[in-house]
Amino acid sequence: MQGEKSVTEIARVLDALTQEAELVQQMDSGEVRCLACAQRCLVRPGRRGICQVRFNRDGKLYAPWGYVAGLQADPVEKKPFYHFLPGSIAMTFGMLGCNFHCGYCQNWLTSQAARDPACDEAVYQIRKISPAQIVDYGRRMGARVLASSYNEPLITSEWAVEIFKQAVAAGMKCVMVSNGYATPEVLKYLRPWLAGYKIDLKSMQDQNYRRLGGVLKNVLDTIQQAHKLGLWVEVVTLLVPGFNDSNAELWEMASFLRGVSQKIPWHITAFHQDYHMLEADNTPAASLLRAAEIGSEAGLYYVYAGNLPGRVDEYETTFCHHCQAALIKRRGFYVMENRITPEGACPQCGMQAAGVWG
Ligand code: SF4
Repeated sequence: MQGEKSVTEIARVLDALTQEAELVQQMDSGEVRCLACAQRCLVRPGRRGICQVRFNRDGKLYAPWGYVAGLQADPVEKKPFYHFLPGSIAMTFGMLGCNFHCGYCQNWLTSQAARDPACDEAVYQIRKISPAQIVDYGRRMGARVLASSYNEPLITSEWAVEIFKQAVAAGMKCVMVSNGYATPEVLKYLRPWLAGYKIDLKSMQDQNYRRLGGVLKNVLDTIQQAHKLGLWVEVVTLLVPGFNDSNAELWEMASFLRGVSQKIPWHITAFHQDYHMLEADNTPAASLLRAAEIGSEAGLYYVYAGNLPGRVDEYETTFCHHCQAALIKRRGFYVMENRITPEGACPQCGMQAAGVWG
């Protein structure tokens, strides 16, 4: 495109798979303000936003459309959602690109496509597809959930909504698996179709978020707003040794979530060396357990330790917050036993568990 130093092959392919964006504010002299995420890029004609996949052509903002780079029937627990139709299949689609550049990204091949030449082979994952085909595939797989995931879904919200509309009409519930770098505008845009929102809380240190390409406050605001809008929110913290694993920081995270709602499930998951972050150790089970205990001490009802199945004691199980009965036992992404009633209550004391159950 005009004004670009070079346009990679992957960008050329992606640029053809676009449609005029709806999450945009038209400015003077052909500039556009993108509203799809909290970067709020001001994009001049011929230029791209930070994510590289939304761009200004002749004074109009274009957004990704009409393809997937991954489409898979996953357990909903893999997203992870533990309180959202447990044991269900989530038909999950992903695209390319991200608004962050986390050095430890575990999906970097697709998330950093168009930003990092090392990801150019992701071009071979692109498949043109229609919303009806995605929903039909989900139906044939028995999916009750339709998820936008793998890369950052906010940057492709218009395409997601097109799919969500058909999924909702087919009786599915829709979720996003996101870094939570949202704007109030995009949350309002998604709200009619979205039922669940998984948000990463990567750190409580603003300087850490700036290393990843964002600002802490915008993520905290998203957690509060999504909860206030009535979305079912679950929060994930990838625990990276030396980055975000001090007791003080974990206490701050848990206390923040506790302040929004005791009922928000908090998943603390294990990091493994990947992409540019090869110096930090893989997260040991003992650190996950330490973090989970801090979450429980802070007063959160539902705290989980993930990515190390079978090594995290009771932190794969959902307990009734009232009588402590085990409600749902899991191993990794799989539900081994579900004793919760169809209405979402504890079979022992009758207390309602927080979540989306039936
Ligand atoms: S989605 Fe975010 S990063 Fe991409 S252009 Fe819009 S505001 Fe910028």
